[in-house]
Amino acid sequence: MTTDHAGTSLNTSLASLPAIGQVRAGKLQKIGLGTVRDLLFLFPRDYEFPAPPTAVTDLREGVPASLVGTIADAEIVSRSVGKSVFGAIVENETGSVRILFFNQPFRAESIKFDRRVMISGTPKLSGLRMEFVHPQVTILGDEDEITKPRILPVYPLTEGIKQIEMRRLVWDVAHGMFDSLTEVMPPALRKAAAVRLSEIGIIVGESLPEIGTALSDLHRPPDEAALVAARTRLVFQELFAMQLALAIKRRRLTTELRAPPLTSTAMIDARIVNRFPFELTGDQRRTIDEIRGDMACQFPMNRLLQGDVGSGKTIVAIYAMMLAVANDHQAVLMAPTEVLARQHFETLNKTLEGSKVRIGLLCGSLSAGEKRTVIEEIASGEIDLLVGTQALLYGEIDFKRLGVCVIDEQHKFGVAQRVKLRSGGIDPHYLVMSATPIPRSVAMTMFGDVELSTLRDKPPGRGKVNTYLGRGQWKQRWWAFVRERLDEGRQAFVVAPRVSAVEASEDDDANEDIASVESVFEELSTGPLKDYRVGLLHGRMPAEEKQSVMQQFATEQLQVLVSTTVIEVGINVPNATVMTILGAQRFGLAQLHQLRGRISRGSHAGHVCVFTDGEIEPEENERLKVLEETHDGFELAEADFRLRGPGDLLGRRQSGMPPMWIADLVRDVEILALARSMAQEMIEEDPELSASDLAALRDQVFRRYAKRLDLGDVA
Ligand code: ADP
Ligand code: MG
Repeated sequence: MTTDHAGTSLNTSLASLPAIGQVRAGKLQKIGLGTVRDLLFLFPRDYEFPAPPTAVTDLREGVPASLVGTIADAEIVSRSVGKSVFGAIVENETGSVRILFFNQPFRAESIKFDRRVMISGTPKLSGLRMEFVHPQVTILGDEDEITKPRILPVYPLTEGIKQIEMRRLVWDVAHGMFDSLTEVMPPALRKAAAVRLSEIGIIVGESLPEIGTALSDLHRPPDEAALVAARTRLVFQELFAMQLALAIKRRRLTTELRAPPLTSTAMIDARIVNRFPFELTGDQRRTIDEIRGDMACQFPMNRLLQGDVGSGKTIVAIYAMMLAVANDHQAVLMAPTEVLARQHFETLNKTLEGSKVRIGLLCGSLSAGEKRTVIEEIASGEIDLLVGTQALLYGEIDFKRLGVCVIDEQHKFGVAQRVKLRSGGIDPHYLVMSATPIPRSVAMTMFGDVELSTLRDKPPGRGKVNTYLGRGQWKQRWWAFVRERLDEGRQAFVVAPRVSAVEASEDDDANEDIASVESVFEELSTGPLKDYRVGLLHGRMPAEEKQSVMQQFATEQLQVLVSTTVIEVGINVPNATVMTILGAQRFGLAQLHQLRGRISRGSHAGHVCVFTDGEIEPEENERLKVLEETHDGFELAEADFRLRGPGDLLGRRQSGMPPMWIADLVRDVEILALARSMAQEMIEEDPELSASDLAALRDQVFRRYAKRLDLGDVA
């Protein structure tokens, strides 16, 4: 336990400190600050960087400036009901200025006659005098010999505690603790990190500062360089600890788990590839080779294949599955929906037509008897390839000799990537496929123990998708455009966020306004599209009905499909080139891009028009603007990540990872990448961090991550 001379430790409760007192401790508790540790590690959410003080005679209207002076004539100059203006004069040997505060009468409590202050803000000329409205004011004690205004931390506040008070509280509590903190980064590591950081343009001096210095400078930065160094050290430490945990995890996967080595000779490769109806793209070939390398090993492949919608992931999956069969093993492909599972089942049947490979399908609409038969045939080894919905496959199914498990359309981050599918104590190889490209920082954190393959180029001959933001009054013209495309023989999707209008949801105040597929279907099939064959699809329909509607659309018996996002994943109807999305602000960016991907499957140009409902016009929505401008799924994912912030993706619940304390996964992605490579290097050299000077670091890594990443004993 860390203790200072007065017997205060990091765990001392704030309420027990006389300098804080019960009342203030209660207020601090409201924002989760209960102990000395909490205040010590309270990270300022921002800093104030005041301009250096100038003389009154050098002030220029509109140019930010600071001024040190003494208060003369402070008074509340006018007050009517609920309104007040507090004004004061700040003077020094170079002249005087006026400062003004509207409706902040409490200012009079601190800005008092004869006090020395430093003010910062942007002056305005008022009559003959410069005036600062709502400047930052620092009350200077007599001992504060200010030559340069200090960089001031801005802390998160709670009701009843002002910024000035918070600054004092934090410092009072924190400054006694700096010397007693445990340093987890030995000097050699701090030095090495500084060198590597400078290589990526982050300058922190010769070595990252020690923990005590870093925290002291974080709360009271002597200058900007020290602040950068302090923050960098703490960010690096946080990310490095996480990356060490992931590196340990990754290494253990390769040393502790066993999978069947499934090798591919040139002959096997040729036999598989010859079954494909087209040439592989360069990226598909490269990815397949990566997978061949992985699957030949005797520990499980753990690979994530990311590729934009339509980039051709299915064929890569089929390759991996056929490689297993060629090695006399079974393979399973899991899809998120039954519609998609059936589509994959058909693709597999087509690709393997005339071969001896036996393919099974397991999904919800089968009868209990049919399901039982499939499950038995899997256990006995009669079925080589199994396609099914995830929901069913997560249950208890015994494979005779499972070689590879492919999980399609996995875009729920953090869902356990490794399903419990083992046969006879041996793990299968895993290939997880996602059409939602993962931002770099997420790939390096949540998927930090996974290998990553990417399909960037699209198969040749793809039409481009034109994206339009539809203003309300365009609707009639847009439906005319849709009719023209239908007359040319194309098909169209119409997507709405809700199944039915009556579906009441608490958080929607204007429920009637939300487009529902039922009302849209009604409206279109009696109005703008009444001369066309319009179908309806949503998740609440029975499975057979869904399947039959999809079938009718695929065979062009239906020209228009009004649907919820059930069509989002994977559906492949190349002739569908027009899409209308209603209530678009209710969808996430990744989801909209997924939807749009449905109409870029053939060689005709696609057209998607997004309409919003309610009061908002689409161009007012940041996400929709990004959608219009960006067609590259990777760029889009990064933009989405920036707009939503990492919290959303890395939320504790979804990811199982602890929230970041100081690191910002968007802003600090370069430091993250560096921490990752340094962590990997360290684990390669010292897999269990057993070097004596790493004991404290190891302790921290295991305390924070052992449970989350299943790393075993802390000991
Ligand atoms: P996704 O990555 O979205 O799952 P799919 O695997 O469904 O994409 O592929 C989209 C379409 O592209 C399919 O019709 C598929 O047959 C076709 N395709 C895939 N690879 C190629 C290729 N190398 N050349 C031509 N067409 C391809
Ligand atoms: Mg797919």
